[in-house]
Formats: sequence, C-alpha cells, structure tokens
Amino acid sequence: MKLTRCNENILQFSPSKNKFSIIWVADGHLESAKSKLKWMHKVFKDNPEAYIVYGGDNLDLMQGKYDKRGAKGDTPEHLNRSDYINAVVEEMRKELIEPYKDRLICFTKGNHNTSITRHHEVDIMKWLVEKDDIQLMHTAGFILVEIKARKGTNLTFPIYFQHHPPSGGKRSKGMLSVDLLMAEHPDAKCIISEHIHETFITPQTVERLNVRSKSLSYNTVWCIQAPTLKAEHEGKKEGFFHERIKKSATTIGAIKMDFELKRVYSDNKDNTIASMTPNWILYYD
Ligand SMILES: [Zn+2]
Repeated sequence: MKLTRCNENILQFSPSKNKFSIIWVADGHLESAKSKLKWMHKVFKDNPEAYIVYGGDNLDLMQGKYDKRGAKGDTPEHLNRSDYINAVVEEMRKELIEPYKDRLICFTKGNHNTSITRHHEVDIMKWLVEKDDIQLMHTAGFILVEIKARKGTNLTFPIYFQHHPPSGGKRSKGMLSVDLLMAEHPDAKCIISEHIHETFITPQTVERLNVRSKSLSYNTVWCIQAPTLKAEHEGKKEGFFHERIKKSATTIGAIKMDFELKRVYSDNKDNTIASMTPNWILYYD
C-alpha cells in the first residue's frame, strides 16, 4: 500500500490490489478494561488481508490520577502505574501498531484524544505514532481510496469521516445527521461518524448535475454510524440508567468495508466504478 498525505485533512490511500477490505474500528477506547481488545485482535487475524483504520477515541486516556472523568475499574491492572500515560503509550504501541504496521492506514482523533491536549498541552497521539511514522488525522477529514483500474487509470472513492455526528441519537436525530452530512460533503461516497456508540448503515442516492453536458448522474452514498469496542454497560450497574451515556447497552463491533471495481450501466454507457459495500462485524458474548 501507498499513503500520501495531501494536506492536513486529506490522506490518499492506494492499496496494492483492486479488491480488498478496510476494517474501521471506531471508539475503541482500547486500553480500557471494558474494551474488547482481544476480540479486535481476533477480527484482524480472521481478516489478514484487511487494511485497518483506528477511528476517533481509539484510546480512553482519562484514568490519570487528577482526571475527574476517570473510573478506577476502567484501568487494567498493568496500566495502573504512577506514569500512567507512559504505560498507555508503550502498551498501545505494542498492541495496535507493531503487529499491523504494514496494513495500518491511519489513526484519527476523537474528543478523548484531543481533550488530553486541551488539559495537559501534550499530544499523546503524536507520541504514539511518530516512532513508526504512522499517519495521524484530526477529528474530521477525507481518506481518498485510489483503486487501480485498467489502462493505468485510478478510480477514487472518497471517504469522509467526522468523529461527532452533527446531531446525536439514533432514534430521534440520526437521519437528520445523515441529511446534514450529505449536504455538507457532496463529494464523499461514504460518510462515517462515530462518538455516540450507536450504530446504523444506510445507503442514500445522490443526484448530481453536470452543467457542461447538461446530464444527471446518480450514485450511492453510504452513511455509517460506527459501533464501539467499549462495553460501557458491563460491570457494576447502579440502576439501569447510566448517567454518562444515558442508555443501558451499546453495540460492540467494527465496520468492514469491502471494495472492488464494478461494471455498471449508467448514463447510457458501460462504466467501471470503484464500489464499496459496508458490513458490520459484531461482538457476541
Ligand atoms: Zn467520542
């Protein structure tokens, strides 16, 4: 694979094949005792060809002694050191980067990754990735998937990601999020939002007008609200209603996106397009 950082907000990813998958792990909170880190390793092992993105809030980073948001039970024993942050960086480099270096596209940031910078003026994520020169994106941006087609031409499949959905909540406002994101990012063929630990995948058809040829074209945009790897609901429960996340259970899993070139008949001609089909890989006890 080849990664080209076009600018702060755009990363171009060129895989070595034209049929491949990307597993997007969002809200991993991966050093937390409540995260399904072992299961994630199993998923990566079961899909050895898949590329990897660690979406926002990949680390939890809030169990420091003076962090008011911390919960003691969320820190695994071996990270409970006086240099807690060093322990997290060392451990996570071993777990998340070393075994997957050759198929890791990037890390992106969420509020857990940025709040540590706001509170302590240090970018832990930079520290985590710089030794291995891994790409680090901010909380929103584009990943341009460049697939080699015939005759040396490339077809681009733009993924837009944004950690916070514009409006939270699957039941009441989820579709409003989809509408807003699609209107704001008309060039994306897939839009991923994270953060609320709720999940949906919905296809939408977009009509584009080519003013030069006075013609219309249509394409499918996949809108994905990603699941989490943190089982926030596990452990001691004081009441069925959880103060922090306002619900009793979250959906645990990751998104797997399968890419391939497809021949389609549209606009009165045969076209080859870069297509992507999203799936869930869900965690079951
Ligand atoms: Zn978040």
